[in-house]
Amino acid sequence: MQGMTSFVHVQNPRSVDALIAGRATRDGAGVRLTRVLTGELQHRLDPFLMLDQFGSNDPKDYGAGFPDHPHRGFETVTYMIAGRMRHRDSAGHEGLLQNGGVQWMTAGRGLVHSEMPEQEEGLMEGFQLWLNLPSGQKMCAPWYRDIQSEDIPEVRTPEGVLVRVISGQSHGVSGAMHRPVQDFPTDPLYLDIHFEGDQTFTQNIPSSHNAFVYVYRGTLDITSIGGSQTVPLQRMAILKNDGDGVQLRGQAGTRALLITGQPLREPIAQYGPFVMNTREELIQAVEDFQAGRLGA
Ligand code: MN
Repeated sequence: MQGMTSFVHVQNPRSVDALIAGRATRDGAGVRLTRVLTGELQHRLDPFLMLDQFGSNDPKDYGAGFPDHPHRGFETVTYMIAGRMRHRDSAGHEGLLQNGGVQWMTAGRGLVHSEMPEQEEGLMEGFQLWLNLPSGQKMCAPWYRDIQSEDIPEVRTPEGVLVRVISGQSHGVSGAMHRPVQDFPTDPLYLDIHFEGDQTFTQNIPSSHNAFVYVYRGTLDITSIGGSQTVPLQRMAILKNDGDGVQLRGQAGTRALLITGQPLREPIAQYGPFVMNTREELIQAVEDFQAGRLGA
């Protein structure tokens, strides 16, 4: 068809390596959440360190929020599906994250921040992803960007699937976060994919990237040459590193995140909100925090 350009050529879609159910936990001042990407998966899903899903109508589950706490050595990407969260940090940034918006924060050498619900009732739903930084950038200056929902590029595929492109590229559309790969070698792809009928979505993924799909509405099927695997609601499908892309089949109302990145293959040393390469660097991070040097 004239004028139509095909951006996607997946010949050998990846198959599913494992299906993961999240673990219920609490964090911050008692916020109830589901930890989908846990510590045991940090090497398998390098450069991603954590994925939390939060979602509740009950203010008892989220009202206490995440009062002042530090970070060093990585990035946090918060994607708000519903609700409002106020962010303040020691670098002087303040922002309101709300319905469909993203906050991308590079902790770098460190800051202290709070993430507090700005609502007393109603639904609070979203995700927080932790993305590792390469060793040479762990002590960079903190950086922060609020991306409002209307500033997140969307693309409708020829099949009719709506894709919100938070980072990376999909079907010829560049994401809200677009950074040179020489500076950000993890090259993250972060898509929120909405199916509006029985539709197929395909996306090329570099063969070196680790990749996963998380289904947060409905169910979908991941199709490869060898067959098809159903991914139920609230499951993460880790994709095998065996093809040139992914093929998803959803129904009306299915929504899923597709997240991929180039692994760093560096040692991971984590102590709570600090993620460095060595134990000595963690001890330094704790000392710096205790001495008030984070975000000073
Ligand atoms: Mn935080």
